[in-house]
Amino acid sequence: MMQPTPISKISLDGRDFLIKRDDLYDRFLAGNKYRKLYKLLQTPKERYNKIISYGGTQSNAMLALAALCKQKGWEFTYYTKPLSKQLLKLPYGNFAKALELGMCHIALEEELYRGFIASLRLELDAQTLVVDQGGANPIAQEGLELLAKEVMEQKELLDLHNITAFATPSGTGTTALFLARALPRYTIYTTPSVADAAYLRLQMLALCDTLPPNLHILKPKKKYHFAKPYREFYELYHKLLQSGVEFDLLYAPLLWQELLDQTTENILYIHSGGITGNDSMLQRYARKGFAT
Ligand SMILES: *Cc1c(COP(=O)(O)O)cnc(C)c1O
Repeated sequence: MMQPTPISKISLDGRDFLIKRDDLYDRFLAGNKYRKLYKLLQTPKERYNKIISYGGTQSNAMLALAALCKQKGWEFTYYTKPLSKQLLKLPYGNFAKALELGMCHIALEEELYRGFIASLRLELDAQTLVVDQGGANPIAQEGLELLAKEVMEQKELLDLHNITAFATPSGTGTTALFLARALPRYTIYTTPSVADAAYLRLQMLALCDTLPPNLHILKPKKKYHFAKPYREFYELYHKLLQSGVEFDLLYAPLLWQELLDQTTENILYIHSGGITGNDSMLQRYARKGFAT
């Protein structure tokens, strides 16, 4: 049985927040990727010999799958669009770590990418599994149910009766959706990091028939482009770091910003991990002239 991850407390703008420290589970297989891949982690080695996935070159899901496959002794093939000049010259960040963990990377031509990905499942043998981009898959449900159970037990044990809401950021929305389903008596706050709220709803509806009524998507006041550097995100990242916990630079700052702006309850924030990607993001901020 796995140890529950701890709960920390931070103060931010005069408010207290509790943080479920899923970032501490493992260096590479951490945060919500650990929860989403939990079922696969529990699967006997003999069941598969190869995992196939696809998506961004610095994806946290890619790194988590690379770590999982190494642990299991499974082959891991990962498809992306063509690499950037920088990555071709010298791998860095999550991409470099995933390669070190044994990932087999295949870059597809831009025009071929969509069609190739759509055909991935056509001729699979029984020991190969395709995991969709970002781990957006019904297999995520089990790990998130376990997270909900763990958190409710800790809430009881630590006497956290004033907690009435939870928060976790969204890319595909898989984490927030299954968490909301598993905790029907609580509000689950999330924000759309990758596109807008309407698109996030669509992505979630690919995994369920109707969205749970306790799932609350906070709409950002301003439009943000995913993985672009923004001053307010950078500042919030440092403020959170000073309060004692490091969060990722892609998803967390937007949710924190909207939580501070649009909520008043006592919230338990589920840390979604992703801090291994911060080195390469901080370098981008530095290149843009932000002081580190
Ligand atoms: C993948 C990821 C998310 C988004 O999770 P979804 O389940 O796709 O919504 C959020 N935060 C971090 C740090 C991630 O790596």
